Amino acid sequence: MTNFNPITIKTGNGTRILIIYTGGTLGMVFDEEKKTLVPFRFHDTLRKLPELNHLPPEIHLVSFEKPFDSSDVDADIYLTLAGIIERHYHSYDGFVIIHGTDTMAFTASALSFLIHNPHKPIVLTGAQLPIGIPRTDARENLITSIEIAAARMNNKAIVPEVCIYFNGRLLRGNRARKRESSQFDAFDSENYPYLAEIGVYIDYNFRHIRYSEGETRFYNVLSDEVSVLTLFPGISREILRKHLLNESTRGVILLTYGSGNAPSADWFIDTLKQGIDSGKAVLNITQCTGGKVMMGKYASSQRLKDIGVISGSDMTLEAAVGKMMWGLTRTDTSLKEIFAQNLAGEISLP
Ligand code: ASP
Repeated sequence: MTNFNPITIKTGNGTRILIIYTGGTLGMVFDEEKKTLVPFRFHDTLRKLPELNHLPPEIHLVSFEKPFDSSDVDADIYLTLAGIIERHYHSYDGFVIIHGTDTMAFTASALSFLIHNPHKPIVLTGAQLPIGIPRTDARENLITSIEIAAARMNNKAIVPEVCIYFNGRLLRGNRARKRESSQFDAFDSENYPYLAEIGVYIDYNFRHIRYSEGETRFYNVLSDEVSVLTLFPGISREILRKHLLNESTRGVILLTYGSGNAPSADWFIDTLKQGIDSGKAVLNITQCTGGKVMMGKYASSQRLKDIGVISGSDMTLEAAVGKMMWGLTRTDTSLKEIFAQNLAGEISLP
């Protein structure tokens, strides 16, 4: 069983930061036998990072006993992370989650729905190269994340959001996407301005940071009855039927073309309608990395609107999956109403 009792890394000026280590490249080492990068225990490595001693906050660390590659992340891990933050929420001023880059944007998105109205920074970060490699980006990413998690003004957190810090950019978590696997600038948020740009100084983009007024609320349940279907020219009826007419899915995310367009053939529309009539929610988001769904702009999307497909506007796939997993567990509101709201800064509404 994983032990989530924090250990002290260093004492400091009284601002308290909790680092949650999950795994990912940042903390990996090269296994000579397997000839691959493998997750590694992080406690000792972190203690050897002398730069941390020059940072003002007091830093504590909790670690998953068996660190993992982020390809192994699932809904249980989202819930575990939200649970750790909930348990320690009142003891820390900010949280830094060290996470693999591959699914970091999915985790950030899910957490932004599981932790509603955060008043403290929850910064996810990782690296393209392990911390032990001389040219690593891990040091800068980790140190800046800690600084951002600890940053306060007028006794309040400067960035009280779930966000991703990577390579000089602070991004809203549920707007970010991994776009690059070889260069250091792995993340971008095409549809939302950066929350901060980091060079010699940290320039916060105050106008675009979300300052929630309501009470912070933690949720502890997610649904796995979600499926994602990417459209492509030539998609078969059978594939569409498998997604729309099965017992185990209640929410289908359709990755459509351009501004939300899809085939207008009767078999396509009829199958979607059958799925919707049987109680499934069908959400329309675009395959494009920028721009948004505008159902009705073209005749090919008007039919989707007519049968009750929900517009995902400019949401990323990562945000749509998190919102759907969370939304399907709500019994107080319909999915249609949930997707019509901007709950955590994930969507631009007209
Ligand atoms: N496969 C790694 C992971 O996501 C990649 C990384 O951390 O950059 O865990």
